[in-house]
Amino acid sequence: KPHIRLQIQISLFGDDDRLIVAKDVTRLYQLEQMRRDFVGNVSHEMRTPLTVISGYLETLVDHADELPPKWRRAIETMAAQASRMEALITDLILLSRIETGEHTVDDSLTDVDEMLHQICHDARALSGDKGHTIDVNILDNRLLRGDESQLRSAFSNLVFNAVKYTPAGGRITVTWRTDRDGAHLSVKDTGIGIDPIHIPRLTERFYRADPSRHKDTGGTGLGLAIVKHVLLNHDGNLEIRSRIGEGSEFTCHFPRERLVERVPEAPVK
Ligand code: ADP
Repeated sequence: KPHIRLQIQISLFGDDDRLIVAKDVTRLYQLEQMRRDFVGNVSHEMRTPLTVISGYLETLVDHADELPPKWRRAIETMAAQASRMEALITDLILLSRIETGEHTVDDSLTDVDEMLHQICHDARALSGDKGHTIDVNILDNRLLRGDESQLRSAFSNLVFNAVKYTPAGGRITVTWRTDRDGAHLSVKDTGIGIDPIHIPRLTERFYRADPSRHKDTGGTGLGLAIVKHVLLNHDGNLEIRSRIGEGSEFTCHFPRERLVERVPEAPVK
């Protein structure tokens, strides 16, 4: 028998009076679960045929110079769109897995220092001849308890977004620091910025601040939704600050209980 889910709201009046409202949200919860499963299953089923299509298209692209110019363009466009669709399906599968909640979180120890250096290395390749300056500051060398692959997806989405939404020559600064409140990973850029009216909705699936400003960034529109759910799975949250034309800063906050001291390596005998 399924568990019953209740949503409880407590309002305080004066010193002693309380109004307690309990709402049965079991059905809503089940529907949400069905939606997630459906999206996950459809994405899975679409992946195989799409892989076959992309495979053949890639072969055709490799032999493009043997084709008439009109066909060449068509085939290159199809290959590019197929790879966009693959990225979308990969993100949909990832999101539906992450959304199922804390049960899927693998509590391993993540070396944030090493992970951020790898991600920034890949980000420099993505930046290519746009020549962004990408700096990493590691101000605490403790490890973070959490699912390494989920954390990698979240952090790389933030860093790759910074590259995508920052014009050539801009600066991206990635900082990992801790204080009394916990651990904080911030990704700051000198990019196009975001109008404040969009900020509360940015982590919704497929929400885009201003589609006309960035048609060609190649994103799936799911990146920040993934970041949000990864952080929820790690008892964390995302803070977004931005100014149009000046840049943005995305900060992931984690509770300090997730920090773990590094064990010094045993001396080699
Ligand atoms: P997308 O695939 O469109 O990048 P995301 O979910 O990663 O999807 O981001 C949602 C929207 O948030 C983006 O379409 C963009 O409008 C805005 N955004 C995200 N990161 C940045 C950034 N660093 N600078 C400016 N806008 C950003």
